[in-house]
Amino acid sequence: MVSSDPTTVPTATVDLSAYRRNLARLGERIAPAALMAVVKADAYGHGLVPVARAAVEAGLGWIGSLDIETGLVLRENGIPRDVSVFTWLLGPDEDYAAAIEAELDLGVSTIGQLEAIAGAGASLRARVHLKIDTGLHRNGASVHEWPGLVARAIELSDRIELVGAWTHIAEASDDDDSIAIARFAAAVAVAEQLGARFAVRHLAASAAAFARADARFDLVRIGAFSYGISPGGGITPSSLWLEPVMTLTAPVIAVRDGLATIGIGFGDGIPSAAAGVLQLSIDGRLHEIVAVHIDSLVVDTGEALVRPGGTAVLFGSGADGEPTLQEWADELGTIGEEIVTRLSPRILRRFFE
Ligand SMILES: *Cc1c(COP(=O)(O)O)cnc(C)c1O
Repeated sequence: MVSSDPTTVPTATVDLSAYRRNLARLGERIAPAALMAVVKADAYGHGLVPVARAAVEAGLGWIGSLDIETGLVLRENGIPRDVSVFTWLLGPDEDYAAAIEAELDLGVSTIGQLEAIAGAGASLRARVHLKIDTGLHRNGASVHEWPGLVARAIELSDRIELVGAWTHIAEASDDDDSIAIARFAAAVAVAEQLGARFAVRHLAASAAAFARADARFDLVRIGAFSYGISPGGGITPSSLWLEPVMTLTAPVIAVRDGLATIGIGFGDGIPSAAAGVLQLSIDGRLHEIVAVHIDSLVVDTGEALVRPGGTAVLFGSGADGEPTLQEWADELGTIGEEIVTRLSPRILRRFFE
């Protein structure tokens, strides 16, 4: 039995109202384009179902779940059918019938996938978004394959409803993004000449959606920024008034000789590189992390009066002087996503409405 008392176990407290406020601010910024809440990797470590429900409460009509399995979990947990759930990581042996019956949207790159979807024997038409590769080379139809993919989707229209055209871009350099945007627009034009009609065209994730109006098209797929996390480089979440959503705390287990042992370690996902680099907060005072073990870490408390049974704040909103996730990421030379997605399932997730 795992205790559910945040004073005795490491706890990630997720502020769902901060998440909804972030979505509202993002929505204003990208309007008239629509916003898709990306909840892959257990909602970036924040907790899939509560976060997805909060997105629906915030009025979003789109959720991005990455894979079909996660999309099915969302439907089983009450994400309503009038909210489109976009899945785009399709393996060779997908159960398309289940996905289609659950009205999941499918991001498709090949004719083989189209035929497997059309032949799945589902009672409903499959909702499909065709993917063009605009330079990232992860998947998506090449410029040469694209007209054939579009034509096949149109031929299969008794089984397939064409909903979207989409791509994913690097968001690394403005020049590369400009090329990708132009390729995407050209591919959509080619498809329309072939008779395709798309309800939504989508290309951008957090960084490009913010930096460039011409990247937004009808829909943007936002992960990092919705959690108050910078996707790396460029615009920072705080400059957009986006709030950190997660606060990570752990119990003070023992105090001796100016050192306190905190009950969270690298087995819980705390990077061992934090030792000698990062601080955490106890009772509003910062203390340096001097060692990270598998299930605990040690901080230098110096002369400060720290008692066992207290709570250490590893990162949070910063409002009480604690470090933020962004500071952790910057100090460790990584991105915030990497830290939060590695937090282990042992860490209690607690949700505030
Ligand atoms: C993860 C992902 C996103 C969201 O990216 P962020 O940079 O976290 O906003 C959008 N689209 C696709 C295809 C993704 O895989």
